[in-house]
Amino acid sequence: MKKPIATPSRTKEILETHGMFAKKNYGQNFLIESGIVDKIARHAVLSDHCVVFEIGPGIGALTQYLCEYAKKVVSFEIDERLPAVLADTLQEYENFELVMRDFLEIDLNEWCRTYRKEGYDVVIAANLPYYITTPILFKIFESKADVAAITVMMQKEVADRMQAGPGKKDYGALSLAVQYYSHPEIVVNVPPSCFMPQPKVGSSVISLKRYEKPVVDVDDEKLMFKIIRASFNQRRKTLANGLNNFGGMGLTKEQIQQCIEALGVPENVRGEALSQFAQLSNIIGAAK
Ligand code: SAM
Repeated sequence: MKKPIATPSRTKEILETHGMFAKKNYGQNFLIESGIVDKIARHAVLSDHCVVFEIGPGIGALTQYLCEYAKKVVSFEIDERLPAVLADTLQEYENFELVMRDFLEIDLNEWCRTYRKEGYDVVIAANLPYYITTPILFKIFESKADVAAITVMMQKEVADRMQAGPGKKDYGALSLAVQYYSHPEIVVNVPPSCFMPQPKVGSSVISLKRYEKPVVDVDDEKLMFKIIRASFNQRRKTLANGLNNFGGMGLTKEQIQQCIEALGVPENVRGEALSQFAQLSNIIGAAK
């Protein structure tokens, strides 16, 4: 590597040379701490036979390290000013490909199939644009694309919610949804000073290892997510009241109560203390 991009002076120099400024509406906070960038890249690239899909290369801070460690890096970007910048900053890397497409719009399964056919492992890495963190992750999960691992930077508060377990204050619908699909682990917390411009809040790098198949088989995923939403909609209510107030899932209050009892938990349990939503949805689905 010639010079790391992720330093304050190099980032300033690149922005000035190209007459660039960070665009807020694209969620642009560029990484300027090469130690953190190196950590994300080492964590993301599982083997020397990896293709990395990167969401939002920006001026190439993380991309550069990914190119050092991976066989190939395919980066998806929407800012039309960046191809010229990246052609300059990443010119030494022949394993870099820029795709000017909105990541939310691409056919992820098709992109994965292309590289899996050639025998590559596909992983995803990003310093995510924070305004679309959840839609991006759910796109990846719901597509069921053959992605081996996801390593991404996001707001610390969102990462904490993803990792929280039952009974914790951050535990909620997001924790359950993420943990249904993957095993989340916070790799490192990152202060605002590691970015230019600095975000107002702290950030975390989180690693999400996708389960090959769900820990519990769910008969009807849509019903399960409906139950999860209903349970956390009214956090202070008991689970039975929460579900009942949300339309009862087509069951009477007594039937809901019986389903909760069949789960083997106290009948006045609250949603925030429950982890067995997959089993509950199978029981409710069978009772309908
Ligand atoms: N990777 C760079 C870094 O770490 O310095 C930039 C990260 S910046 C937080 C987010 C990047 O995502 C920006 O380059 C932004 O233009 C890009 N971006 C925003 N929305 C996007 C989308 N829907 N699809 C692809 N890239 C997007």
